[in-house]
Amino acid sequence: MPFDKILIVEDEKEIAELLQDYLEEEQFEVIVASDGQEAVRLFREYRPQLMILDIMLPQLNGMEVCRTIRSESPIPIIMLSAKSSDVDKILGLGLGADDYVVKPFSPGEVIARVKAQLRRANQLSPSTETADIIHYKDLELHLKAYEVKVRNQAVHCSAKEFEVLRFFALHPNQVLTREQIFQHVWGFGERGDLNTVTVHIQKIREKIEVSPANPAFIKTVWGVGYKFDGGL
Ligand code: CA
Repeated sequence: MPFDKILIVEDEKEIAELLQDYLEEEQFEVIVASDGQEAVRLFREYRPQLMILDIMLPQLNGMEVCRTIRSESPIPIIMLSAKSSDVDKILGLGLGADDYVVKPFSPGEVIARVKAQLRRANQLSPSTETADIIHYKDLELHLKAYEVKVRNQAVHCSAKEFEVLRFFALHPNQVLTREQIFQHVWGFGERGDLNTVTVHIQKIREKIEVSPANPAFIKTVWGVGYKFDGGL
């Protein structure tokens, strides 16, 4: 897949350079961030197709970066870790990483995983990662402007309501638990009442649904969570 952009987030210069050399050899365009805040900034600026993300980073750590990016985009994220126990924890937290590699690794192994993830991503979603506007039936989400329109009418949503709705729209037809929604929108490490999620979903339904009691978009999956009906 020539010219795919890859963002490497790693503060250890030698590792970042090694990966960059190998990826460029494979015709990828490579951007390197050396801390978590720079990672989020470069992600928003360059819209890469994939991210290789170290866990131990200055400023924001890799988990925080992963959560932030995942709430904005479905791009594949491959985590790098010095300890396999960290990785188990991360995958268990449901932060949304797609794969991981434990250090020390061979660059060839990382390249193989990068290619596998890109193949998978291209099959799953040809356009959502670069789209600024997401459409489902008569619902429109303007991702950069934080605007919602339903049946061509602008609807006012709070920032958190918008983030909940965006998270659903980026994961259509997928069951999301209240815990997952809470973690993505309110943040990892924050202790919260899961009823916050229920209340926000109720408000969103009142704003976007013709009949909030019989929702067409955010459906309740009893005993599990919710599912955004993307019309498949
Ligand atoms: Ca590091």
